[in-house]
Amino acid sequence: MILTIEGQLTPDDVRQLKPCYFDVPEGTTQIHFNFKSAPKHPQGHEFPHQLSLMICDPNGPCLSIYRAKEEGATINAVNPSPGGVPAPIQPGKWTIFVLVYRLLTPEPPVNFTLEITLSTDEIVGEPQVWEPGKTALRGPGWYRGDLHAHSIHSDGSLDIPELVQIWRDRKVDFMTLSDHDTISGLGQARSLSDDELLIMGGSEISTFRGHAVAVGVHEWFDWRTLEGKQIPVPEIARRVIDSGALFTIVHPRNEGEPWCCGCRWLHKDMMPGNALAIEIWNGYWDQRNEEALRLFYSWLDQGHRIVATSGSDIHRPPSANKPGHGAVNVVYAQDLTENAIIAGIKAGCSYISAGPKLIFTAKSESGIEAMLGDTLPTEPVELYVRWENANADSVLRLIVDGMPYAETPINEFGELRWQLKRSLQWCVVELRQPSNGLWAVTNPIFFER
Ligand SMILES: [Zn+2]
Ligand SMILES: [Zn+2]
Repeated sequence: MILTIEGQLTPDDVRQLKPCYFDVPEGTTQIHFNFKSAPKHPQGHEFPHQLSLMICDPNGPCLSIYRAKEEGATINAVNPSPGGVPAPIQPGKWTIFVLVYRLLTPEPPVNFTLEITLSTDEIVGEPQVWEPGKTALRGPGWYRGDLHAHSIHSDGSLDIPELVQIWRDRKVDFMTLSDHDTISGLGQARSLSDDELLIMGGSEISTFRGHAVAVGVHEWFDWRTLEGKQIPVPEIARRVIDSGALFTIVHPRNEGEPWCCGCRWLHKDMMPGNALAIEIWNGYWDQRNEEALRLFYSWLDQGHRIVATSGSDIHRPPSANKPGHGAVNVVYAQDLTENAIIAGIKAGCSYISAGPKLIFTAKSESGIEAMLGDTLPTEPVELYVRWENANADSVLRLIVDGMPYAETPINEFGELRWQLKRSLQWCVVELRQPSNGLWAVTNPIFFER
């Protein structure tokens, strides 16, 4: 049986969930969706409209199509398309939400057709069961890894083994799969964890007013209800955090509308609200990240205890010709497990680096020692920094309460001490190349207010 739903989108639909309903009869075993829209490109623009689909059975989301593909997508109990979770087809009222992220010109309107093919053919086989891979415990130490990556399960071009291989080649200790609004790739990804690489759960909650990566989730946390309502982000964040995961605001200063609705963080009730972390380094270091770093500093100045993170946000194989430098998170954790890495990040005991090693500690006048994320009493302190593998022409910059406090040219290796006499709230260390941006930045050491 084939059902056809037609509709029209205008700029008024940007940031809206356009629901389309259809009934699924008892005995249906598979549904195929084909979404076509025309015209494809806004007038005069190279890039296409950005439309996504979220498909919900009577109980909730089951197939997320972040970018509709020519060949369409299928849901069934055995082998759904990437973005879908295998489950027997539930009879009853289904909903397809058309999500409008980008639609630039008022004329002509965009016409869409949804072709829904329902089948009762027997689906042979059993869904693949993925056994989580095991990572041997290594004990307390500094671990390096990525917190933001995409695969074919949303808008990436890499399948899970290809994505995992990139991070193996980069010799990191952990990585996070964070496809847009789906967890369908997590089982396979986690099955590839081994002693060399821990693969953590995750999903990028991709709202119309900003994206957040829930690091360490294994279930579907959706920001949309079956009635087409958008759940307030503080509530989503609370649910994510209550599950033990990390709620991280990502690429907060990316270009926003009209180029990309949702890419810039605009949730006024989450500046930063109950978010635990902010991604200040997304992809390669650039002006967007410089602005995200400033936003992080302004939140610290306001008294928020929020942690800075980085994410590659990788979507396709890295291009050898593209200049720039990306970073990883270097986290002090009690072990190489998902819980321990998340605990280390939550504690703020981490720094972000594109290569250099950066150790930053402090000791108060009364002898109390602090690591990243710790709080010292308000009294004179000695700050200690040690670095390795800095590039030529680098400087070390001490930031105190958001302002540059000291800056020193440095060699490839070295150590340095600063004395701070006045009362202050927080301090971090940046390692920069004045000609080529940031190479490393720590999370803060705090002082009692
Ligand atoms: Zn995003
Ligand atoms: Zn992303």
